[in-house]
Amino acid sequence: MYKELSVSKKNLLGAGPSSVDPKVLKAMSTPLVGHLDPEFLVIMNETMDLLRHVFQTQNKLTMPMSGTGSSGMETVFVNFIEPGDDVIVGINGLFGMRMADIANRCGAKVHPIEAEWGRIIDPDQVKEKLDATDAKLVAIVHAETSTGVCQPLKEISNYCKEKEALLIADCVTSLGGMPVNIDETGIDIAYSGTQKCLSCPPGLAPITVNDRALEKLRKRKTPVLSWYFDLSMLQNYWGKERFYHHTAPISMIYALREALKIVYEEGLESRFKRHQLHSKALVRGLESMGIEMFAQEGHRLPMLNAFKIPAGTDDVKLRKYLLEELGIEISGGLGALKGKIGRIGLMGYSCDKSNVMAILSGLELAFMAQNYCIEGNIGIKAAETVYRQSCC
Ligand code: PLP
Repeated sequence: MYKELSVSKKNLLGAGPSSVDPKVLKAMSTPLVGHLDPEFLVIMNETMDLLRHVFQTQNKLTMPMSGTGSSGMETVFVNFIEPGDDVIVGINGLFGMRMADIANRCGAKVHPIEAEWGRIIDPDQVKEKLDATDAKLVAIVHAETSTGVCQPLKEISNYCKEKEALLIADCVTSLGGMPVNIDETGIDIAYSGTQKCLSCPPGLAPITVNDRALEKLRKRKTPVLSWYFDLSMLQNYWGKERFYHHTAPISMIYALREALKIVYEEGLESRFKRHQLHSKALVRGLESMGIEMFAQEGHRLPMLNAFKIPAGTDDVKLRKYLLEELGIEISGGLGALKGKIGRIGLMGYSCDKSNVMAILSGLELAFMAQNYCIEGNIGIKAAETVYRQSCC
């Protein structure tokens, strides 16, 4: 006999998934309707409208792909690359590497622009690469979850326009927690995921594509290699025609619609300010505890706070203590950063004062358990100062 499904309560303060808003979980238990039911078609339309709002775009083609964030990544590459195309990819973390891998698999000639992990890609290097190659596509990660770096995109977007190249941005971690400003920045194609700042379970990949990019899609000489991710066909399902393509994951669309409604009701400005405030308090707390932040100053993500593991302490023991003793999940470093950094997510529903205080006191205890001494309560006191100042 199998026991009834049960998991212990966890506070998800890692790189994602983040804790899901209970209203979203409730929406997921709404009874199913058919995926071509007129009521569901209205829900699809509302979901697209709400996605345009959070992406800050008017793009008609804005919809969720069925699959996790990586399906969004794969969708954009299979649709906008033809074999032999020159493609510029920024690599300053794990997800830039993944982009390059997928672009290679699509038969592109990939021109990487690398930066040390933890630092931004230099926009001037993108300009140089655009000048030196025939690339008509530049792909870059807006919020590099593996390092906590926020990539500025405006200058890169301007260079792309000069060369008539399309700009793809990975907004998996940024969407819903900071401005992505698709139209204002001039990002042609973007994709995201549901499990970060939208506080929805993993399972959908919102994407948005502007007319400039659609024009390129129309001019393709070869068919899109993937049937499932072929945007021309999917447009007919999510567009006016409503041609059956695949059975939409109905409960996930309910969840996304609810999550986006919550974002809408909070207001983008307040939501972005909330992420800034709690990240500031967390960082002040960590620094007062003698912990150094990892990402380049001035380019740090508010929703993903990467810190250096202090010398003489063990990252695995630290995370094990937090998880087993306090039910708090944070993330470790990936690839070359394994054992060197810790990553604290303050995303969407999880981004609040109680979680900032919980992780600061949790870390104090976890470090103490390794005989790494930190003055008692120094972190939470420093964070409290930020909160007090923010009310004045
Ligand atoms: N891109 C970034 C920046 C991510 O952080 C992630 C996941 O963490 C992905 C892509 C891939 O998303 P998923 O794991 O949902 O497939």
